[in-house]
Amino acid sequence: MDLVEYQGKQLFGRNGVPVPPPGVVCRTPDEVEAAARQIADGGNPLTVIKAQVKMGGRGKAGGVKLAKSPAEARAHAESIFGLDIKGHIVHVILVEPASGIDQEYYLSILHDRVGKGYLVICSREGGVDIEEVNRTNPAAVVKEPLLPSETVDGLPRERALDIVTRANLPAAALDQAADLLVKLFAALKAEDATLAEINPLILTDDGRVIALDAKVSLDGNAAFRHGDYDEWDVEGIEVVDEQTRAAKAADIAYVRLDGDVGILGNGAGLVMASLDVVAQAGGTAANFLDIGGGASAETMAESLRLVLSDDRVNAVLVNVFGGITQCDLVAQGVLGAMEQLGDIDRKLVVRLDGTNAEAGRRILTEANHPNVIPAATMAEAAERAVAEAAARAAA
Ligand code: GDP
Ligand code: MN
Repeated sequence: MDLVEYQGKQLFGRNGVPVPPPGVVCRTPDEVEAAARQIADGGNPLTVIKAQVKMGGRGKAGGVKLAKSPAEARAHAESIFGLDIKGHIVHVILVEPASGIDQEYYLSILHDRVGKGYLVICSREGGVDIEEVNRTNPAAVVKEPLLPSETVDGLPRERALDIVTRANLPAAALDQAADLLVKLFAALKAEDATLAEINPLILTDDGRVIALDAKVSLDGNAAFRHGDYDEWDVEGIEVVDEQTRAAKAADIAYVRLDGDVGILGNGAGLVMASLDVVAQAGGTAANFLDIGGGASAETMAESLRLVLSDDRVNAVLVNVFGGITQCDLVAQGVLGAMEQLGDIDRKLVVRLDGTNAEAGRRILTEANHPNVIPAATMAEAAERAVAEAAARAAA
């Protein structure tokens, strides 16, 4: 799970990684104004207003702004709430006492699957796109794999100092940056994080090295080791579309994809195979939906309603292999669902195989519903669904 900045900073803070003085998490311009006033009363009139979305480049997108007064903080908040940062809508803002910046650096530690270990990346060039720096001036980016012994026992201070020295950090920042790096790695291990990125790591105008930004990913497989894991999942931060939200509420196994052919199948394996046959037929899936074991009219209607509520869906492929599930009942379920849903302007291609498949197909054929097309094989069904989707897209 990815954390937003304020959460990453909380996690840094409790592990001794230096961060700015605590900010206030806000959901309305009123709250932002009050937070800025509270911070100003604490002696720092300058605040920074920061969009909390799980996406980098917030500064460039207008999601990070300095404010000299509570009124200005409020005005910034009004422009930042609702902002679309590469598809992530801003619902939460962090108001933080602004830090005075002398210099900006880059520091990250990530779990490198290919290298089967941790990798430290550090550069004198921070606050900018590090991949761009790595392309144009790779010598400015130090990439240091950690040794197995370091992975187990922790990063020795002299190694940390060596890394930040080779990254060309200035003398004034070296000791503090080395200490910070040692703590950052300890934090990564303690919290089961797979990534901790600080861009920028700054030298403040009063000579302190602190993490001004925080991007942290936690390993969901280790959730059981952390009692507070679910608490990171905060309302307003996850970007969830209407269908995903509805599926979650109804306990339906649904994954949103990018294409325009809706897919419903019984069993995750069959749904995945459906994605493949749709791709083979030259189409792209709009979603992955596993209707599970029983495919009653209600389940079918609920699942179909969900998929059809997505405007991107131009045709639907229903792929059912009857085992315990009986295809004749599925066929009735599909027809019942169509009745419940009323007028729909999209075609459903239904492939039934396995238990009572013939009876199921006969039911569909006899019903002769204008939008329900029975198909005997998966390949045939996929081709038809892709063709129907293309026809609707062209119309
Ligand atoms: P990002 O654009 O999503 O990476 O957001 P950052 O948190 O990294 O902020 C972007 C930039 O805004 C930083 O590189 C800083 O230059 C600037 N910035 C952020 N916070 C502060 C602050 O407290 N004081 C000052 N002076 N600048 C800040
Ligand atoms: Mn940043």
